[in-house]
Amino acid sequence: MSISKTNPRLDHIAIAVHSLEEALPFYEELGLTRLEIEVVEEQGVRVAKLDIGNTHIELLEPLSPDTPVGKFIAQKGPGLHHICIGVSDIEDNLCQLKQRGTKMINETAKVGAGGAKIAFVHPKATGGVLLELSQPRGE
Ligand code: ZN
Repeated sequence: MSISKTNPRLDHIAIAVHSLEEALPFYEELGLTRLEIEVVEEQGVRVAKLDIGNTHIELLEPLSPDTPVGKFIAQKGPGLHHICIGVSDIEDNLCQLKQRGTKMINETAKVGAGGAKIAFVHPKATGGVLLELSQPRGE
C-alpha cells in the first residue's frame, strides 16, 4: 500500500462499548483526558474521544442495535472495533485502492466524527482488522 506518501499516522483506536458512562471511568482513572462526546448520526454512534499522547482512543456506543456497531456488539460483544489511519488526501487513497480492487466497506468518503472525511477498508484486505482512513476537516 502506498498511502505512505500522504504521511499517514495513527489517528485513533476505536473500542465498541455498551455504554460510554460505564466505560469512561476506567480510562479516565488511567489518566486519559476526555476531549469530547459527539453523536455521529451517519455512523450510528455516540463517540467519546480520549487523548492519549499523540493519538486518541475512541469509545463507540451504538445509537441503536441495528447500527453497524450495535450489530458488532451483538455478534462479538464489546471490544476492539477498528483502527484509524489519518491521511491528508483520502480521495487519492480511495482512487488507488479502487484501482487495485481492494475490498472496501465504503467506496466513497463519508462524514465521520469532527466532520472528518472517512472510509472503511474491509478486514479481508487489511490482515483481519477493520481499518478506517480519515482525513481531518480542513486538511
Ligand atoms: Zn474511527
